Amino acid sequence: MSKTFDIGLERLTGGARFPVGVPVGAGDANAETDTLAASALRGTFFLETFGCQMNDHDSEKVAGVLLSRGYRQVETPESASLILYNTCSIREKAAQKVFSRLGEFGLQQNAGRIIGVLGCVAQQEGEEIFRRAPWVSLVCGSASYSKLPELLAQVEAGNQRVTGLDTDTDETFETPVTRRDNPWRAYLTIIEGCDKACSYCVVPYTRGPERSRASDSILREVRQLAELGFTEVQLLGQTVNSYADPTARKMKFSELLLAVADEPGIRRVRFTTSHPRDFSQDIVDAIDAQPKLCNHVHLPVQSGSTRILRSMQRTYTRDEYLEKIAIIRGAKRPISITTDIIVGFPGETEEDLGETLSLLEVVKYDAMFSFKYSARPHTPSLAMKDAISEEEKSRRLAILQDKQRAIQTAKHATMVGEVYELLVSTKSRRETQWSGHTSCHRVVNFSSQEQALLGKYVQVRITGATPNSLAGEQVP
Ligand code: SAM
Ligand code: SF4
Repeated sequence: MSKTFDIGLERLTGGARFPVGVPVGAGDANAETDTLAASALRGTFFLETFGCQMNDHDSEKVAGVLLSRGYRQVETPESASLILYNTCSIREKAAQKVFSRLGEFGLQQNAGRIIGVLGCVAQQEGEEIFRRAPWVSLVCGSASYSKLPELLAQVEAGNQRVTGLDTDTDETFETPVTRRDNPWRAYLTIIEGCDKACSYCVVPYTRGPERSRASDSILREVRQLAELGFTEVQLLGQTVNSYADPTARKMKFSELLLAVADEPGIRRVRFTTSHPRDFSQDIVDAIDAQPKLCNHVHLPVQSGSTRILRSMQRTYTRDEYLEKIAIIRGAKRPISITTDIIVGFPGETEEDLGETLSLLEVVKYDAMFSFKYSARPHTPSLAMKDAISEEEKSRRLAILQDKQRAIQTAKHATMVGEVYELLVSTKSRRETQWSGHTSCHRVVNFSSQEQALLGKYVQVRITGATPNSLAGEQVP
């Protein structure tokens, strides 16, 4: 879905005015006049995002780059002069979506518009996209986003086939302006790419090698975010806890978490996704020491069977994973644990599935994201034998989800009557109805007679629960 929160540029830049149409800090007074004139010609952009939070956040940065070049964001492709799709290729279905979107914009409807494909499908398919959709002018993979301003300049100059497809870049995608979608909670990528080599996963191919962002630059941005009124930050990375500070300071990930929480104005710090192999005691110690660090860890296991984990090249066994769970369960305050699971990996037997089901029983996850295995190009598992049929994958997924539903029903029932602090993020169309997140990352729909609660922290008593949602009422 495209995101269309409309926030003024002044808010995004701390009120500072900067020249429209040139990268911030690069213009003089005359250049400003020139670029303002250019901006009138540049027109409008529509940006649709598919996939994960990292893609959402990349889109926020892409929008920032475009706004600073003088474009205005619009809500429909029909009213845009530049149409961009930020794509996901983690599973085949996600990758297909962009081609169906591109099909809607054949040569006829294209009429003078510039169309670009960004993100993982761009990286995966490369110039093939020009062949399948000749009306596309820009193909830029996520590993090349740092070059986006110069690629856009080439497109604006009329170049019909512009590509950014390198994966050997050692730069991270930092922008002077990021157009953030949510005015209270800010995403912040601290590590890009991935150096793990899970046999099913296309990410190392599409996002390139791991690059960590400098700790001083991260902390500077957090400070700016706090000054702009953001109170919650979510640190992002495919393997966020593999963070390796490239500066002389060499901050550990847990030290970075504490330093982010120490910034005045910040009330909550989250991080995702943690890789089990790099999850260590000091992260839990930091959560124990600093209540601003949210009591939630997303720790994808993928399978409960050591045999399948080996075949997936996940670099840990079931028992080693359970040791990490024990570290989290040993915390002084309860920490909610969520996970990702793939069913139907090549060669997965009924017994392997049984191990995954028993792992759910042992860990009792607070939530689970579950997927049918999808064979992806450029991945080692593509060549593996013993593919599981789609029908069988669906059957296994249903069994897994039934089990997790029962676990969540029981967990949620224990929350009824308890009081939680929420950051209020949505107002329902119904008067007096709101929703927000707990520190343990649950969404609660609640009632309150108060007005103007958006962005505020409130205390809410849980009054009702279903497997997937919680209801409550504000307490004074
Ligand atoms: N870096 C994270 C990690 O290591 O857990 C995950 C990133 S990936 C965007 C999110 C989830 O997609 C993975 O945890 C996995 O469960 C799922 N996934 C990745 N590749 C997949 C594939 N080929 N088929 C099905 N699910 C897949
Ligand atoms: Fe993909 Fe594995 Fe890297 Fe996660 S850790 S992004 S699943 S290769």
